[in-house]
Amino acid sequence: MEKLEQIYEGKAKKVFKTDDPELFIVDYKDDATAFNGLKKGTIVGKGVINNQMTNRLMVRMEKAGIPTHFVKELSERETLVKKVSIVPLEVIIRNISAGSFAKRYGVEEGIVFDQPTIEFSYKNDDLGDPLINRYHALALKLATAQEIDTIEKYAFAVNDVLKAFWSECGVTLVDFKLEFGRLSDGTIVLADEISPDTCRLWDSKTHEKLDKDRFRRDLGGVEDAYAEIMNRLLAHDAD
Ligand code: ADP
Ligand code: UDP
Repeated sequence: MEKLEQIYEGKAKKVFKTDDPELFIVDYKDDATAFNGLKKGTIVGKGVINNQMTNRLMVRMEKAGIPTHFVKELSERETLVKKVSIVPLEVIIRNISAGSFAKRYGVEEGIVFDQPTIEFSYKNDDLGDPLINRYHALALKLATAQEIDTIEKYAFAVNDVLKAFWSECGVTLVDFKLEFGRLSDGTIVLADEISPDTCRLWDSKTHEKLDKDRFRRDLGGVEDAYAEIMNRLLAHDAD
């Protein structure tokens, strides 16, 4: 598979064309950003961890019947994926209050919900990814009603698989963000990444944060936390 021209450089990954028009290569960087790009830094080794973690978790999703963009891991930082047209919605599932939910609704972090919540942000950096509901998304023609139904169903299914797996690893899944895309035939698949950049993961016993909040909140031990969460995954994810 030949890596052709770069078509996009995002905050955490680069995307390349290949000699197959239906396949892209994503290349994970160590660059870290927070607060809509206002805070910038480097987390050494993050690209390798996020690439490998995402791929292993995507394989788990496929096994659970959730279609994904994953094709093949090519190197430590590079993965072959199916090209999709990204649905411009960030899909956020929460099991426990944290982050913008706690801030927006004036509650403490750490409240365990009776059932998971779902919310959407409009994926638009210029607007700062504003919160959006299903009706707004339909009005803006970001997706069809049927696509939103599918996305919601898959997102809750991802939560069930992810929560159960992280629990085996002694990790509590607090919340996470997913992105979905359309294949050229219109099929909705899970795309982008599932990593400590996009999930809040707390040690089940100590509640120590093992995710990007260590970077966002200047808690220190960022690289150690990424390495720890990857080791927990590897210990419970036999090949
Ligand atoms: P951002 O765009 O938010 O800075 P990244 O640095 O992670 O994010 O860039 C990767 C980009 O690639 C994102 O915009 C993401 O939506 C997009 N993407 C992820 N998976 C695919 C895919 N299979 N096909 C096309 N684009 C994808
Ligand atoms: N998230 C993400 N990308 C974003 C916004 C959020 O991956 O652009 C993830 C974040 O890591 C967390 C979850 O989505 O696991 C919920 O984030 P929240 O809305 O609380 O926003 P934040 O506190 O990150 O601003």
